[in-house]
Amino acid sequence: MTSPLPPALTARLPSPLTECADERFTAHGLRLLLKRDDLLHSALPGNKWRKLVPNLLAARDAGHATLLTFGGAYSNHLRATAAAGRLLGLATIGVVRGHELADRPLNASLARCRADGMRLHFVTRAAYRRRAEPRYLAGLRERFGDCYVLPEGGSNARAVYGCAGLGRELAGRADVAAVAVGTGGTLAGLAAGGPPVIGFPVLAGGFLGAEVTRLHQEAFGGPRGSWWLEERFHGGGYARVPPELERFAADFEQRHALAVDRVYVAKLLFGLTMLAREGAFAPGTTVAAVITG
Ligand SMILES: *Cc1c(COP(=O)(O)O)cnc(C)c1O
Repeated sequence: MTSPLPPALTARLPSPLTECADERFTAHGLRLLLKRDDLLHSALPGNKWRKLVPNLLAARDAGHATLLTFGGAYSNHLRATAAAGRLLGLATIGVVRGHELADRPLNASLARCRADGMRLHFVTRAAYRRRAEPRYLAGLRERFGDCYVLPEGGSNARAVYGCAGLGRELAGRADVAAVAVGTGGTLAGLAAGGPPVIGFPVLAGGFLGAEVTRLHQEAFGGPRGSWWLEERFHGGGYARVPPELERFAADFEQRHALAVDRVYVAKLLFGLTMLAREGAFAPGTTVAAVITG
């Protein structure tokens, strides 16, 4: 068994589940609940806490002093890993996509990573594509020494087990859950532990279904739960926010006094609202939207 969680990593569990009175749902006889994972932990919000904590404990218990992981210039995962390293006293290395960024002033997200002690290693897009190859990882270990390697987005089997806790918190509370999908780890865990799940990919390409299946294989040796993806609501790609989506998100913030993250949560709430309008849910259905950040 792993050692207990240090106080700095303690979260508010279970995360709050709140009623959201929205006429676009109630008009169809639907109940909308918000699963407020964004309130779990101040430095590691939402799914990042659920995905990182089992990995942090494993790294520490195996005697690693350094975490190494991957992300883009605006990655929430890099930021959360840097913060977790600071809280746990582990060194962190972030392999960042985009060699050209090395010569520019850091954006706020990467500046935060560095302020938390993360060593930033900028690589070309071609190198970044090799991030899961054993030979590439061996090269990084040669360069940086022994480290616990977390894949992009932190999505591995341990992250899936961590997110299964999110599913268990929703079991019996909702008929269907909905979540934004970046790398698929959160959806894979949620589906394994809870009600049927609709995933809303926030990037184009249509590869995330295969990735969730692969994560289920890695974590459980086979498929788990009931889930599907709605691929229509990525808004043109990662971090793209078309005007219609921006209007929707600003309006949702007004209606419900909730800060809506544009990269992930806005696409989930927009897609879910469209599905309700299209009559995708039978009257009487309770839908839980996971507010991941
Ligand atoms: C990282 C992140 C996600 C994506 O989670 P995956 O497990 O990578 O699919 C969703 N929402 C927010 C706010 C995030 O920061």
